[in-house]
Amino acid sequence: MIFDAHHRGMSDLRLSLTDRCNLRCFYCMPRTHYNWLPKADMLSFEEISSLVELFLSMGVHKLRLTGGEPLLRKNLTKLICLLANKPQLEDFALTTNGVALAPLALSLKEAGLHRLTVSLDSLQPQRFEHISKRNSHRQVLQGIDAATQAGFPKKLKLDSVIIRGFNDDELPALLHFAHERNVEIRFIEYMDVAGALGWSWEQVVVRQEMLRRIEQSFGTALALEAADAAPAQRYQLSNGTTFGIIASASAPFCEKCNRIRLSADGKLFACLYASEGLDLKKELRAGKTPSELQQLIHSFWKQRTEKGAEQRLQLKNRRAFKTEKELLENPHLEMHKRGG
Ligand code: SAM
Ligand code: SF4
Repeated sequence: MIFDAHHRGMSDLRLSLTDRCNLRCFYCMPRTHYNWLPKADMLSFEEISSLVELFLSMGVHKLRLTGGEPLLRKNLTKLICLLANKPQLEDFALTTNGVALAPLALSLKEAGLHRLTVSLDSLQPQRFEHISKRNSHRQVLQGIDAATQAGFPKKLKLDSVIIRGFNDDELPALLHFAHERNVEIRFIEYMDVAGALGWSWEQVVVRQEMLRRIEQSFGTALALEAADAAPAQRYQLSNGTTFGIIASASAPFCEKCNRIRLSADGKLFACLYASEGLDLKKELRAGKTPSELQQLIHSFWKQRTEKGAEQRLQLKNRRAFKTEKELLENPHLEMHKRGG
């Protein structure tokens, strides 16, 4: 394992497979026009496989495929097979909006994926459309059912971004939905990541408020001890239901952040909020050997000082992180480009 300037180990790789998405969630991709990454710039499956191998040899043991929407990547199961066979890989997950999941769930599991996280912000079709600008709620629910039936080795998780005035009244209903399906749900505070152009503190429902509202419906929630460096604080209700809250806006986990992010075109980022990345694809395509690439990653991580979310928390007049103009000038800033 290698350690950064704050002695945080590099153990969790989040790999964006594409910057394309079949939804337009207003808190992530609010615009109608985007500068998409050119197809020729996207890492091929072979390039992804050799880069993942490098990271695994350097102490990474968790891999999450994300995006954009990772299920839009063609022949995805072929890539899953390539990656799942790597012996050092202890945890192999994928985050999806679930729209294209139903027909794919079983083949993802058979290809060797360990587990899935599906994002679900609302149980109401019209509200889902209001949030995501697409009429795909039914497909998402079918995807969740297919994922629970596929029998992945590790349990399905659901992620909900809770935003005041949009879905904060659905906390109990979402929790009930997850309980009925025997899956764990995590409620995420609305973050001011690049792309969340309309972000404001007023819309953030902080952890304590979420807890209070949940306890009003279900009684006391007991805080559970953290089993690993996962950002979610987990709780248990008296009926045995467990759930998590990720307080990424009000109580960031930068201190323990062990995540490194690779964009679909091979740029390495040390933080969701970092403005610059290391162009690994350029080095790979220039013919650098695996040990030269390891050296580059090593010095990149050793110099890592970023604590982006903590710095954002110090700001007095906290508003959206970047303007539309800044995003157009540097599209790599956006969450859907570098992998959420
Ligand atoms: N498209 C996939 C999905 O939606 O699950 C994967 C990529 S998405 C960027 C990963 C996660 O980031 C989703 O759960 C999404 O809800 C979350 N996310 C996006 N923008 C966010 C924001 N402004 N605040 C908090 N979470 C956000
Ligand atoms: Fe797409 Fe996921 Fe962003 Fe929604 S959160 S726009 S589904 S990448």
